[in-house]
Amino acid sequence: MESIVRKPLLLVNFTFVNLLEYCDVINAAHACENDYRHVIIKGQTLFKEHFVTDIRFKSDEETRCHYVQARVKAEMKKRSAYNVTGVISYNGKVIEGECQCAGGCKPACCKHLFGLLSALEDYSRKEMYAAPTDKIQTWHQPAPKPISPQKTKDSFSCDKTGLTNFDTSVSMSALAALPQNTPIFSVVQADPEKLTSDIIFYERTIPFVG
Ligand SMILES: [Zn+2]
Repeated sequence: MESIVRKPLLLVNFTFVNLLEYCDVINAAHACENDYRHVIIKGQTLFKEHFVTDIRFKSDEETRCHYVQARVKAEMKKRSAYNVTGVISYNGKVIEGECQCAGGCKPACCKHLFGLLSALEDYSRKEMYAAPTDKIQTWHQPAPKPISPQKTKDSFSCDKTGLTNFDTSVSMSALAALPQNTPIFSVVQADPEKLTSDIIFYERTIPFVG
């Protein structure tokens, strides 16, 4: 299996019609008539939120099929992921799909499989098979790691910043060296729409120190 980042997957015109047609395959196999559109939408969300990672494939000239696989992170437990596999014919027909999750019976109809199929639909529509390497890397990059929340006391602890002994006193003699009425606070008192530097005036000035 070759990474989709390293080798182009020649999946031309793979569209949502192919995803909907795969729903017919599922229904035929399970002898039911379910509407899987909501699962397709969940799959799209998984792809858009970067839950679909490490897409790999192998194209087979004999069967004229692409064998694809991916790791799709579990929504609740982001650290665990399911292996998802699919077989797609050269003309875009989804032959079968399988997933490790509880809903992933064969042919799978779970959101993880539709996550992979949504990724491939996006890949095909954007013609990523013809894109330069850096573009495909950006397309397939994992989501940035969420920043773990930090406790307020860790962020603002004086002990950690080393600001325990700073001097807050004001040197009046230093102020006296400044020209009289030098502005020290600027206050905007104007309609924001008409805001120009002319209508910013100063409410506080340095007192004259004689
Ligand atoms: Zn699944």
